[in-house]
Amino acid sequence: MAERFERTFVAIKPDAVNRGLVGDIISRFEKRGFKIIGMKLLHPTLEHAQKHYAEHVGKPFYNNLINFITEGPIVAMVIEGVNVIDISRKMMGTTDPQQAAPGTIRFDYAQVKESNVVHGSDSVESAEREIAIYFKPEELFEARENDADYFIKMFGHVEEKSF
Ligand code: UDP
Ligand code: MG
Repeated sequence: MAERFERTFVAIKPDAVNRGLVGDIISRFEKRGFKIIGMKLLHPTLEHAQKHYAEHVGKPFYNNLINFITEGPIVAMVIEGVNVIDISRKMMGTTDPQQAAPGTIRFDYAQVKESNVVHGSDSVESAEREIAIYFKPEELFEARENDADYFIKMFGHVEEKSF
């Protein structure tokens, strides 16, 4: 599988913020080596929620999902790293915590799919789209200079950047 330097949008959902799980969840991504390049606590508006979950309009769980995500503040983050889109979703586990592998975030912290503590983009295109919903370009930072360029230069198996 190609190894590509990517960015993804992660949200710590209102249930997890309310339960005080923010630090534990952020810490998992940091320990993996993913770099936080954008982060804010915000209460999603209806507009945020509708844009974010546009792909799910009309599904039976859509209204609940919109109510749930607008219920309180979330931590919106952009994280960066090698294959971060796929790997961060693996770290989260399957949508339904009942099916999630032990040790994943959703297994460890959640019980039902309606309240599953985290969101992660599922493709380069979704990541780009979702990042733009929650962040202005000037709200994203380079915590360390030339991180992507360093990886690509030093490790031949890491290919191009997705952003
Ligand atoms: N969801 C739900 N019921 C379902 C499927 C999804 O409540 O049957 C919620 C769940 O919180 C999920 C979100 O809708 O995280 C978005 O669904 P998606 O299929 O995109 O799952 P994800 O990408 O978050 O794993
Ligand atoms: Mg999804």
